[in-house]
Amino acid sequence: MRLILLGPPGAGKGTQAERLVARYGIPQLSTGDMLRAAASAGTEVGLKAKAVMDAGELVSDTIVNSIVSERIDQPDCARGFILDGYPRTLAQADAVDVMLKSKGLALDAVIELVVDDKALVGRIIKRRDEALAAGQESRKDDDPVVFEERLREYYKKTAPLVGYYYAKGLLHGVDGMATIDAVTAEIEALLANI
Ligand code: AMP
Repeated sequence: MRLILLGPPGAGKGTQAERLVARYGIPQLSTGDMLRAAASAGTEVGLKAKAVMDAGELVSDTIVNSIVSERIDQPDCARGFILDGYPRTLAQADAVDVMLKSKGLALDAVIELVVDDKALVGRIIKRRDEALAAGQESRKDDDPVVFEERLREYYKKTAPLVGYYYAKGLLHGVDGMATIDAVTAEIEALLANI
């Protein structure tokens, strides 16, 4: 099964992706996690990406497309994968199309987590407070000011993907304001029917 999880930052894509990994035994490919790992490893790409990420902006399509293309060639992706936080622009969505076609693969579904902005800011503040309370370092881009920029980037560059995938007949909207368990149940129910 090849899935895309779509939704603004803080919508719960990562949380739901983890549950889908456990349920379907396919990996979660989070471009945010991959970029953060590259930044921590101090690679040239990672360091370049870090400055962009810390400002709440989007890393270049070329960088993320090549990271994902290499990743889906790994053996653990043979039975499918969950794309979390990718694609995030129309150019990336076109790249996914080309990438999958060239590998003889296709998407099964795009799941949009539908949430409201005010709740998102609250969730991010909670994520940051929880990280701090646990003695962990909070993500720089979970700072409320940077988060606002991430939301703007989402509406400007990523939200158009909703129409893009609707037109392809792949889009499934899920109420992301429901409880975590209810969201998971709704996703599993819709996946049982595709
Ligand atoms: P995330 O963990 O998905 O919230 O991503 C954190 C940050 O990583 C984003 O704000 C971007 O700066 C960068 N990033 C992650 N995925 C992408 C992507 N598909 N395209 C561009 N930038 C990305």
